Order: sequence, then structure tokens, then C-alpha cells
Amino acid sequence: MKFTELPLSEEVLAGIEKAGYTDCTPVQETALPVSLASRDVMVQSKTGSGKTAVYLITILEKYSRNKSGAALIVSPTRELAVQIEEDARILSAGFPEYRIGCFYGGVGYKEQNAELSSGLNLYVGTPGRLLDFAKSNKLDFRCFDTVVLDEADRMFDMGFYPDVQSMFAQMRSSKERQTMLFSATLSTKVRNLAWQYMNEPEEIAVHPEEITVKKITQELFHVTKAEKFGLLLSILKKINPASCLIFTNTKDMAVEVAKRLVMNGYKAEYLMGDMPQSKRLKTLEKMKEGKLPYLVATDVAARGLQIDDLELVVNYDIPEDYESYVHRIGRTARAGKSGKAITLACEEYIYGLEPIENFIQMKIPVIWSDEVGLESVEDKSAGYHYHSRRPGSKRVEKRGEKRRNEKPKGAKTPNKAGQKSSDGKEYEKLSTMSLEERMAYYRKQYGGDGAKKAEHVDKAKKTYSQKKAQDMPKKKPQPSKPQSEAVRKTPSKPQEGQNAEYKSARKGLFARIKAKIFGEK
Ligand code: ADP
Ligand code: MG
Repeated sequence: MKFTELPLSEEVLAGIEKAGYTDCTPVQETALPVSLASRDVMVQSKTGSGKTAVYLITILEKYSRNKSGAALIVSPTRELAVQIEEDARILSAGFPEYRIGCFYGGVGYKEQNAELSSGLNLYVGTPGRLLDFAKSNKLDFRCFDTVVLDEADRMFDMGFYPDVQSMFAQMRSSKERQTMLFSATLSTKVRNLAWQYMNEPEEIAVHPEEITVKKITQELFHVTKAEKFGLLLSILKKINPASCLIFTNTKDMAVEVAKRLVMNGYKAEYLMGDMPQSKRLKTLEKMKEGKLPYLVATDVAARGLQIDDLELVVNYDIPEDYESYVHRIGRTARAGKSGKAITLACEEYIYGLEPIENFIQMKIPVIWSDEVGLESVEDKSAGYHYHSRRPGSKRVEKRGEKRRNEKPKGAKTPNKAGQKSSDGKEYEKLSTMSLEERMAYYRKQYGGDGAKKAEHVDKAKKTYSQKKAQDMPKKKPQPSKPQSEAVRKTPSKPQEGQNAEYKSARKGLFARIKAKIFGEK
């Protein structure tokens, strides 16, 4: 659908043109008709799907009709707030008089104070700073007739729930304002917030791509960290893929793997989230034109980028977040084609495997490298390691940065030397074992039908159910609606607390996650 087909004023369309948008993204097409009718909406769609424009266009169209009122956009981070402000400046190009202010912590109050007292049409800010201003009577939350909570799930991850509650408590009643909530996931916590502070919101969930892991040939190799790159070379030599995306968990490892591939004569580049968008797009363009067969990326770098028709996806590192596994391997086997995903399980990231296998509800078939007769290849980059000097560069990179010491979803703390864990102790020994001994160890641990395997699966199931107990329903999920298209529904208020909460979560969240993975209708 084109933006011109929506009931939008000329000035708003001028801003949209300035932003360079012509066609609505799926979430815009589904949400805008509802939000433009002044209804409350809670919108779930993945990162990069165009949610910002949904609320900014709604706010601007309202302004074009009334030329009064004030809107508030709450963002969990300063970076996002600045990004929203920039987008708002572009989209409001048709209204030269439109005034926007951005309020976040970490900088002095003086300038922001002056902005506040001058009166604005749009306020963008982070919870802490907004509450500070309210406390000192510089900002009155009751003035807002439109309120947006962006990245609501992250707001929780970052511990802003009390702040968000406090802000809503100071606002006018939900019936006297339009409230819009946006999130990449709609957890029970986010839904509760919606029930508490929104006026019968319409729930809009868009799942543009149905990832059916079962269509993808998955393989897993057990290997020590030290031998991982050598194994990668052997695998690449055997498969010789026309296009291959290799995922690493850290930026440094992405650079290292790409550089080592180049040293070994492969055409390879790396992609990182903090590269300018133009550079990332250029690299992708080369890949699409067939000029660049190998790309090494972190999860963040690959997010929101259209990389289709890949012959092979390699998880050089097992992702620490089990949902990332599905997103990564979903890059292959698009549009009904079959594709291959190979995962290298080393001692550092093996702990991500259990949650992944439980999430996809299958065991990833293990290939024993000593059985398949992989040719060993001389590694011309042997001994090369890359370490950037940037502080924190070894950290797992995530857009929407989780805080440092927070464990990624579904991940256990990796067992580092000295930590108390039976697995950790055994893994420490791995580097001293011969290949034969190690293979025997892996088989005992993860292969055959030995007791160890049963124990492994059992343990995985247990940790999984514990972990999911918070945001997952307990009973079997209901079959969900078709997921390839946008799903809209209006949730009813819970009858009595928990029960209704679980019911709704069961119907929504779980069914959708299942459908997303298995394509169940
Ligand atoms: P989200 O908030 O869902 O993660 P954003 O709103 O940040 O996604 O949008 C992601 C990118 O898509 C931005 O660069 C934005 O400018 C661009 N974008 C949004 N809507 C459109 C559109 N209709 N056409 C083209 N690009 C768009
Ligand atoms: Mg966003």
C-alpha cells in the first residue's frame, strides 16, 4: 500500500516524501489505519520493520488536524531518543512551525530546561530525565494527549518498569489520551502494562517471515575452540558454497574470521552493527551481485538486512540467545528453497545449545567430523588472532544493548576456568585430549543413546521450563492463526489476574512463537 492511499494531509505526505518512503511496510499498513482513527494500539513487530513511522505519522496527522495538543514519546535509551527525534524532524518537514524537544540523562539540564519552558509539540525522552523534570514541576505529564511507549520490552529489560508506572500515574486518564505501545515482543509483562494503562488497545502483530526450521538442513559439529577455524576451512572446501553467511558472537571474532578467510584465499568481508548504514548496504550489494561469496557478521549487523538466497549459514559460534539461532538459520531456505545451516559447537558457547534445542523442539543432528571424511586443509592464517583495542569490543554485540552483566535470554553463564561446574571442568580437559579421545567424549556427552544424552536432554528440558515459566504459559498452546500475514485482535481485559493473563499469553505469545518456527496453522 502506498502512503498516498492513507487518509493523510498534504503536509504529512510531504514529510513522508522527504524521508524517501513511498510504500508502507507491513506493520505500517496494518497499524496506521487503526492508529490514525485515534485508537490505542499495541504493536509487535521485529526490529527494523518501520514502527517509528507508525507513531510519528499518527502524531503528525493529529497535529495537522487540530494544530494543538502535545505528544510524548518515551524511549528506553538516549540513542534511540535521538534517533526518534531525527526521524521526527524529517517527517515533520511539512510543518516548519512544529517544535520538537529531546530529553535524556547524562547531559546538563540547562539547555533542556530552556527547551521545556518554550513549549513544544513533541517531547521525546528517556524515563529518568522526564521524571526529573516532572518532579521539579518543569513538565506536566497531564498535558499529553498522545503517549507512545517505544521498545516496551527493552524498557522492562532495563528495569524501567517502576519509572514507566510512575509516569503513567501522573498522566490524564487513558480515555482522555491516545496511547500507543511498540515492542519487538509482547511478553506477559508488556501486556499487563497495556491492560493497566491503555484504553482497549487493538493488538497488532506482524510476522513478515515465517521461519520453518524443518525445511533447513541443520548440522552440528562438536569441536574445540582451537580447532574451529580449521574445521570451517574443511567444511567450506567440501561444500564450496556460492554464498555463505557466517555468524559470530562478537565483533572481534567477526573481523578475525573474515581476515583469516582472506588469508586463506577466500573472498570474505565482515559486517558490524556500528558501521555506517551506507557501508553495510554496499557490502550487501556486492554479495547480491555475486561478487562477495563470504560474509561474516554479528547478529546485530545482520538484523534488518535483506540477505536472501543464501546457500549456507554457519554459526561459527552458537548464539547465546536461542531465538537468534532461528533468525540466523532463517537466512537460508527462503521462499520454499532448501538451505543448509551448520553450527560449530565449541566449549565456550556449548551452553547455548540446550535452550536452542528446546526452543526449536528438536535435536540438531550431530555430524561426527572424524566419520564424514573431511579433508584437512592447511590453514595459512594459523595462529592469527584479532583483538581490537576498543573497550568492551569482546562483548556480545546487540542492538538494543542489553546491559553488560545481564545474561542473554536462554543462555547460561559460560563456564570459565575456576567456575564450579562439572561440564566446565571436563571441558577444561578437552584441550589436552587427542582427537580420538575428544570424539569419544563428545559421543558420550551428546551422541548415541547413552545415559549421558538422556541426562543432557532431561537437564535441558528442566532448565528450559524453569526459564520459560515466567513469560510462557504452562499448558499446551492452542493452534494459532495463519502467521504469514498480519494478525489483529483486541484483547479483552483479564477477568481475574493470573488466569486470564496466562490464557491470553497462551493464546498469543506461545502459539505465535510456535507457529513462527514450525509454520503451524
Ligand atoms: P523499528 O522501530 O521497527 O525497529 P524503524 O522505525 O527504526 O524500525 O525503521 C527501520 C528503517 O526502515 C529506518 O531506517 C527507516 O527509515 C526505514 N523505513 C521505515 N519505514 C519505511 C518505509 N515505508 N519505506 C522505506 N523505509 C522505511
Ligand atoms: Mg523502533
